[in-house]
Amino acid sequence: MEALAAAARARGLALRGAFHPGPADGAPPDTGTLILLGPDEPRFWPLFAASPEAADGAAHPLDRWSKREIGALAVAWRGTARFPSDGPPWPPFLHWAQRSGRAFPSPLGLLVHDTAGLLISYRGALALPQRLPLPEPPEAPCPSCEHQPCTTTCPVGALRAGAPYDVAACQRHLHSDAGAECRDRGCLARRACPLSQNLHRQDAQAAFHMAAFVKNWSGKEGGQA
Ligand code: SF4
Ligand code: SF4
Repeated sequence: MEALAAAARARGLALRGAFHPGPADGAPPDTGTLILLGPDEPRFWPLFAASPEAADGAAHPLDRWSKREIGALAVAWRGTARFPSDGPPWPPFLHWAQRSGRAFPSPLGLLVHDTAGLLISYRGALALPQRLPLPEPPEAPCPSCEHQPCTTTCPVGALRAGAPYDVAACQRHLHSDAGAECRDRGCLARRACPLSQNLHRQDAQAAFHMAAFVKNWSGKEGGQA
């Protein structure tokens, strides 16, 4: 697993979890180990920004970058790659995240990761034929999180404990002058998680994702992120 982690890191990616799938997990046939990959932040953003996909002006540059980089890893490791953008039917990345034992339901209803916090994202997965040894899973972080700052930070209450994500309220804020902090630096509630701060996410990366979120929703009152 160390060699794979190093090969991923060289491509701006980090291993965010792995498990041995069973028949009900929706993994490709004959997968021995399914490995989830996310951006290796903050190193990832300058690598992506210098890529051909970021410069060519075509649609979906980050999805295309992910397919090239993770596709190359899959070839080198004699496996196959799956991506969140493959579908329909969409691969069950949220199920895989929880099966990895490293992502857990948070009070907001979003998944929280043991090292990437609420900023966890998955760029793709590697399905390898061999059954690799896996480390012991970590403890879920939220039960021991004293003040649970993720639940009280959103300035418009769009993300709070025990309530569904109010996407419309979030988007109204993002379209207002007051929403500049979220637009330019990323979701305040997700950033408030102490684990999210491990990533040191670059503002340019946060703004890229927020711009896509705002653009995809424009005109869709009540739409889903
Ligand atoms: S982006 Fe801002 S307004 Fe939207 S949920 Fe996050 S903190 Fe709230
Ligand atoms: S702030 Fe605390 S409660 Fe909220 S997701 Fe992070 S660890 Fe869990």
